[in-house]
Amino acid sequence: MAVICGLLAISSVIVSGCSGNGDKPGKQASTEPVARQYYIFDTVVNIKLYDDAKAEEHLDHIDTMLKTLDKELSRTLEGSQLYKVNEEAGKQPVEVSENTVAVVKRSIAYAEDSGGLFDPTVGGLVDLWNIGNGGEHVPEPEDLQRELNLVGYKDIVLDEAKRTVFLKRPGMVLDLGGIGKGYAADEVARYLREEGVKSALVDLGGSSIIVIGSKPNGDSWNIGLQDPDSSRGISVGTIRLNDHVIDTSGIYERYFIEDGVMYHHILDPRTGAPAQNDLKSVTILADNAMDADALSTFVYVMGLEDGLQYMENLGDDTEAMFITADDKIYVTSGLKDSFQVSSAQYTLVE
Ligand code: ADP
Ligand code: MG
Repeated sequence: MAVICGLLAISSVIVSGCSGNGDKPGKQASTEPVARQYYIFDTVVNIKLYDDAKAEEHLDHIDTMLKTLDKELSRTLEGSQLYKVNEEAGKQPVEVSENTVAVVKRSIAYAEDSGGLFDPTVGGLVDLWNIGNGGEHVPEPEDLQRELNLVGYKDIVLDEAKRTVFLKRPGMVLDLGGIGKGYAADEVARYLREEGVKSALVDLGGSSIIVIGSKPNGDSWNIGLQDPDSSRGISVGTIRLNDHVIDTSGIYERYFIEDGVMYHHILDPRTGAPAQNDLKSVTILADNAMDADALSTFVYVMGLEDGLQYMENLGDDTEAMFITADDKIYVTSGLKDSFQVSSAQYTLVE
């Protein structure tokens, strides 16, 4: 339960139901949504559907979808497909579903694109650091080295025809925590769009939000970005969006401090330790949740300079916002006009 409350309390993205301006008279956003909460991959998911006669039916269907995805992609759920892949590491390939094939395939592609800064085989390191689960400490160097040696996405063998996944070396641990939520969110969004839903919000753990369509009155959604250091509870700024995904990876989500150093849950596969840089958070805006999820994680590892460069070079309408330890905000060129800083604490760097 502590995890759930923690996650809710640190929501880095907030959606304001009414913008306070622009709402058309007589068509106010007064429609109360039909909402439901789910739990998948140790994350609270909140879904709100507006103005939809079949809302309850859709929410029931989503419940089944998310339960299925959990049984496929959860690393911690005993007996899940991913669990079996890890059990059979170094022994034999494991037959998996189409969903799992798709996610593993994408995770390898992100690993290649990021030059290994995104690496889905960091599972052993994730377990070693055990961040966010209490009793954390900096691991012994030999333990760190042992787990670091087991990281290597090139040793994932994906056989698409046979639908199997095999980890070549015993002890390797595949962890799709960096993209699984994004995949699940995209699946939910795809279903809702196919069903003709015109106005909905899908919120995963507060750090990833998909807005579907526009608000019930036709306005854009007004998305507020909360201070990554949520203890201050300040909104950093707002952005107006339709049909988009916004995903934040922040170091204030799960961390511990030892000897004055902060250790968080985004790992640098080169060192085996939490990425050390001056970033508090990276937020990605994209048209799909899986890209946004993976990008926010590995662009964080890249750091400000390389990360900004990488995002600018992507060239499509995928944008990023970086918040530094000294409260400066850097955005990619596509966001320069649309992002409004609303807190005096923060300075937008032009
Ligand atoms: P959250 O799940 O809290 O929103 P992220 O989307 O940033 O955070 O994903 C962090 C998770 O991704 C970690 O908990 C871990 O499971 C996994 N992970 C951490 N570092 C990496 C990395 N360098 N490459 C791939 N996955 C990672
Ligand atoms: Mg992410």
